[in-house]
Amino acid sequence: MDFVQAKWYGPGRTVPIRVIVIHDMEAPEGPLTAENIAHWFATMSADSKASAHVCVDSNSAVRCVADGDRAWHAPGANSDGLGIELAGYARQSRGEWLDQYSKGVLDQAARIVADWCQKHNIPARKLSVADLKAGQRGIVGHRDVSAAYGQTDHSDPGPNFPWDHFLSRVSAHMAPKKPAPPSPSKPKPSRYTPPAFPSGLKPNSSTPSAKSLQRALKAAGFMNKSVPESDNYGPKTQEGVGLFLRKYPQYAAQGSTWDVAIGPKGWAHLFTLAYGK
Ligand SMILES: [Zn+2]
Repeated sequence: MDFVQAKWYGPGRTVPIRVIVIHDMEAPEGPLTAENIAHWFATMSADSKASAHVCVDSNSAVRCVADGDRAWHAPGANSDGLGIELAGYARQSRGEWLDQYSKGVLDQAARIVADWCQKHNIPARKLSVADLKAGQRGIVGHRDVSAAYGQTDHSDPGPNFPWDHFLSRVSAHMAPKKPAPPSPSKPKPSRYTPPAFPSGLKPNSSTPSAKSLQRALKAAGFMNKSVPESDNYGPKTQEGVGLFLRKYPQYAAQGSTWDVAIGPKGWAHLFTLAYGK
């Protein structure tokens, strides 16, 4: 949202935000009405001294005063209120408030009001003049502030403002976002268990020596490099050969010795993987 700082406002707040005040701008419906009124607030002469927190038209919103500062929009509710200016006129009929342009305005405003309601813990409900005077939290029109506190005679946003439509749009913008559907649960990777094969196989004449086999398994990535070398074809060596065979099952065969189970082609492939051709 663009921020065009209004010239006239009260820096800081001394009381918490309690009400949101809806205004209309008494300005023509156009694509740049929010920008124009924001510019007007930014350059206003000392004769007027007015501002609002946000101005909206059908296609944009312009921030004019920070929420933490007091805009001068509705005497009586400036200290604990937020003010938003909508493009349009207080004389508009319900039908005119619900034409295509105004529906855009109402939706722009509803998005911001919903955000305010959530940020400042304000219920998305219209307060009566009595509610307002009683200190309740909610949303009102400038005309309600005038009636409650008698400090101005402004009657915007007029008697035909479509509160029902507006509040339903606010609620729609406040609706919690639908949670993403749960992703299909992936099966937990099971802890690696060395294959039974070729456990228990014995070396024989054509089996590489234990140390050279361990070096080849490490070099080809089938055995952790931190495993110390040994002259035994121990469990780690068997596990490494099992991993090799799991990846290259074409070399696996049944037998009682590794030479039979793996064969010269398997050994050759392992050593090629380890050291290249
Ligand atoms: Zn007003």
